[in-house]
Amino acid sequence: MSELLSGRCLCGAVEFECEPGHEPMSMCHCKQCRQWSGHAWPSITVPLSSLKITKGSDKVKWYISSEFARRGFCSECGSSLFWHADRHAEWKNEIAISAGVIDELAGRKLAKHIFVGSKGDYYDIMDDLIREDD
Ligand SMILES: [Zn+2]
Ligand SMILES: [Zn+2]
Repeated sequence: MSELLSGRCLCGAVEFECEPGHEPMSMCHCKQCRQWSGHAWPSITVPLSSLKITKGSDKVKWYISSEFARRGFCSECGSSLFWHADRHAEWKNEIAISAGVIDELAGRKLAKHIFVGSKGDYYDIMDDLIREDD
């Protein structure tokens, strides 16, 4: 069993624990992520069953952001927390969590950029990580 990660929103009303997951950490450049988080959104994807909201689950507000997904944020401070494809047959058992709200990522590093075709023209991707268009 792998060590659990912990995290919290900016104001501390919401706290959670989760497994670290195995998927490469990605940064999403799609317009929705940029609108939601303020810029490209880095996240880790973990099994939904491993996510335990240990404090303030009633403070997590879910915004239905597409026909298959919803985004969870702290209703007190606005921190972007979760992206969950709850109505997608293949992805609904996983959840993506903002890298920035996790306390300690135990050495994990960003591994790839996704939706690079939707990135803003106000910045360039300056590293050599994998780039995917979806
Ligand atoms: Zn908060
Ligand atoms: Zn995105």
